Amino acid sequence: MDRLNSIFARYGDRVTVRRTGALDPNAHCVVYWVLHAQRAFDNPALDLAVDIANSLGLPVVAFFGLVPYYPKANLRHFRFVQQGIPDIAADCARRNIGFVLRRYPEESLINFCIETSAALVVGDEDPLRETEAWRDKAAKKLRIPLITVDADVIVPTRLLLKEQYSARIIRPRLRRHFEQYLVAPANPMARVPWNPPPALHSLSPDFDITANWRDLDTSVQPVDTFRGGTHEALRLLREFVTTKLALYPRRHNRPEYDGTSRLSPYLNRGQIGPHTVALAVQQADAPQSAKDDFLDQLITWRELAINFVHFNPLYDSIECAPNWAHRTLATHSRDRRPVVYSRDQLEQAETHDALWNAAQRQGIHAGWMHNYMRMYWAKKILEWSPSPAVAYQTAVYLNDKYFLDGGDPNGYAGIAWSIAGKFDRPWFDRPVFGTVRYMSGPAAEKKFDTHRYIEQVSSLME
Ligand SMILES: Cc1cc2nc3c(=O)[nH]c(=O)nc-3n(C[C@H](O)[C@H](O)[C@H](O)COP(=O)(O)OP(=O)(O)OC[C@H]3O[C@@H](n4cnc5c(N)ncnc54)[C@H](O)[C@@H]3O)c2cc1C
Repeated sequence: MDRLNSIFARYGDRVTVRRTGALDPNAHCVVYWVLHAQRAFDNPALDLAVDIANSLGLPVVAFFGLVPYYPKANLRHFRFVQQGIPDIAADCARRNIGFVLRRYPEESLINFCIETSAALVVGDEDPLRETEAWRDKAAKKLRIPLITVDADVIVPTRLLLKEQYSARIIRPRLRRHFEQYLVAPANPMARVPWNPPPALHSLSPDFDITANWRDLDTSVQPVDTFRGGTHEALRLLREFVTTKLALYPRRHNRPEYDGTSRLSPYLNRGQIGPHTVALAVQQADAPQSAKDDFLDQLITWRELAINFVHFNPLYDSIECAPNWAHRTLATHSRDRRPVVYSRDQLEQAETHDALWNAAQRQGIHAGWMHNYMRMYWAKKILEWSPSPAVAYQTAVYLNDKYFLDGGDPNGYAGIAWSIAGKFDRPWFDRPVFGTVRYMSGPAAEKKFDTHRYIEQVSSLME
């Protein structure tokens, strides 16, 4: 392993050695374990696998093994992931990298490494506790080294050392590292082509991975508002930088306009990398202020969310609230709530508020919700729930069930901001919310054309 240190050094703080050990001189390949970064280009984890393989004179194979119990995933999410698989296979081929697809109950990474006589495994990273536990388990069970790479952020998460208090605090700390880390991906070619052993089993990339999975959650149907895959993400990115970016500052807070990139489901599944998006925006023909506004969402807010989930194990419960918010919510816990809805009523969009119902229906029928509406939606869940703790759980449940980009640090951070005052400051004291920031329907009406938004969502359902 020591001979690889100079290669690791090129990746700076992205690299974590989870299991060390001697490299078998008779090994046949290097394995890239696809978990979060589901793409073949702009992927520092795959790049590291290729650099190591090239230095050892070995081929690289990307291994994708899917299971029905992937955290927070139902049929809707699996369909999106599935739509992206042919792109991973085709793009791996363009880089001379093999691709093997398997599914439960034949998805074992450990068995695959034994079958292929792998020298080592390179994996990606994300901060959610379930997938982190899988990486820990793999490190214990593998008999070869396991290295993971923080591939889905501009600035490696661990460089910031601890939980960051707010966007204002993290912004300059991230910027300090742009010179080193906001650079074009290398995408090296694998020098040795992958020739699979004759009997090695792989499903075709367009195989229906969910067929006959008894344990799959089929309660939420796929949507046709988004089509998964790196190539579709690149098409949306091109469309965004050429037609929407210049207007982003004026339109991104107006839910009745299609003014944002809609890339969150692709970033969420790692089908597109943040570097590709950031560099396309930097190079676009658009005012600098528009670029800055967008990059602030993509980098500051997104990486604040990843930092939060990485460093705060309480990320999906009200317990993550800062002290001032805990105190104020507790003080107001016995306030009379004029309206209380059950989780079921909220889920069925059966409230008295047409704007809120439209937002919930957008989540159900489009698998996505506009950012302004997500804030309003979560704030109202706090207002109409018996307690902040129940509100938090309801928001997490609905968010992760219906949104294609659910089960993501951005979701936990967004809910924490809306319900638990996270990353925000105290505002004016009022019933139920205390000093946690409030949002109202009349204020929304002043900001944008709520009727047009409601009509648009209705037409989605026709
Ligand atoms: C209550 C609540 C729940 C949310 N749930 C999710 C979720 O489950 N998954 C998710 O990806 N985002 C979530 N967000 C954040 C944000 O609403 C979405 O990322 C954004 O609406 C996605 O649309 P877009 O890709 O068109 O965004 P754009 O405006 O085009 O922004 C580009 C990218 O920047 C990032 N980004 C934008 N806004 C934010 C933000 N406020 N916080 C963190 N990152 C941001 C996203 O990765 C986004 O794709 C939530 C926000 C709130 C308030």
